[in-house]
Amino acid sequence: MNDSSLQLRRELHRFPEPSGKEGATAERIRRFLRDRGKVTFLDHLGGESFAAVYDFSGPGPTVMIRCELDALPIVEANDFAYRSTVADVSHKCGHDGHMAIVCGLADSLGAGSFARGRVVLLFQAAEETGRGARQVVESPAFRQLAPDYVFALHNIPGAPLHQIITVAGSFSAEVRSFALTLTGVESHAAEPENGRNPTTAVAELIPALAALQRADPHDPGYALLTPVHLTVGQRSYGIAPGHGEVHYTVRTWTGETMDSLMASVTEIVRRTAAVHGLEHRLTWLEHFPGTRNDRAANLLVTEAAEARGLELRQRPYPFAFGEDFGWLAGRARSAMFGLGAGEHCPALHYPTYDFPDELIATGVSVFSEIIRRLLG
Ligand SMILES: [Zn+2]
Ligand SMILES: [Zn+2]
Repeated sequence: MNDSSLQLRRELHRFPEPSGKEGATAERIRRFLRDRGKVTFLDHLGGESFAAVYDFSGPGPTVMIRCELDALPIVEANDFAYRSTVADVSHKCGHDGHMAIVCGLADSLGAGSFARGRVVLLFQAAEETGRGARQVVESPAFRQLAPDYVFALHNIPGAPLHQIITVAGSFSAEVRSFALTLTGVESHAAEPENGRNPTTAVAELIPALAALQRADPHDPGYALLTPVHLTVGQRSYGIAPGHGEVHYTVRTWTGETMDSLMASVTEIVRRTAAVHGLEHRLTWLEHFPGTRNDRAANLLVTEAAEARGLELRQRPYPFAFGEDFGWLAGRARSAMFGLGAGEHCPALHYPTYDFPDELIATGVSVFSEIIRRLLG
């Protein structure tokens, strides 16, 4: 394995930064790439996001490879030498590893490596909050990049180490969240008839929302509704509450299912609030569009993995997590794939998780082969 990429991964691991505050991480990456040859940086892609551009002489396609800059507000439970030096922030999604992989491509992107086209390494901020990729595609500077192809990977704990996992349709779920506030009238607990207590409405909403669920992942109309936070009133025994909140995260395999699910949720909420004489406000948050893979781009991933002798697995349905790569996927022929992180690797976002260093070379190998096939 390339020692410099390994060292970079561990350095990034030691100095993690949360979403929206990845300035020092971005600077570390720029320094690393500058040391490895001629590169042009493009900023103003929203927040700390930036691109490293490698131009080759002849006209040809622009191939973008994307990774994420951010860590998570999780306390690291590991005690190895390169553990996080920041008290309550750590790389628990493996974005340190993804960055090391993308940086590992720099050595093969020197002048004269290819006769045509362009490679853009995109270092995207704020993936975990779902904001970064959207800012990138909506920034005016993105027009200068205009990728023809975009690729990304995510490491997948639980899958065999080095296995390449592809999905024919969407790689990851369409995810939205909602916050509902219900407002009635607070009253003395002895005189509830003088108030409007939202408790019964909340209690009715839970099964009504659960009935919208279609939990079989093989079902294209899959819909998962997870309650994440509920509150009514306070620990004060003399008061009948007048305020309640209901927060959910909602996942589907397609945008169409999400649209109809949102309409159903809106209608159930409206009806329930009306029946109980409550005012309500329903706010939709944190949109991660589904990551729809392009057929040709996905085929390139498969062929590259086969050419490099890697084990391949096609998943029958998307991963249920959200990935803001979906914003980029709508702008070019794109594919996202999984890279197995080992059966015994702790889960993503788990306090003991750590990106397996062995995967750096594998990721570099697959991306290099994809680039070679498009620009070679
Ligand atoms: Zn994550
Ligand atoms: Zn991640």
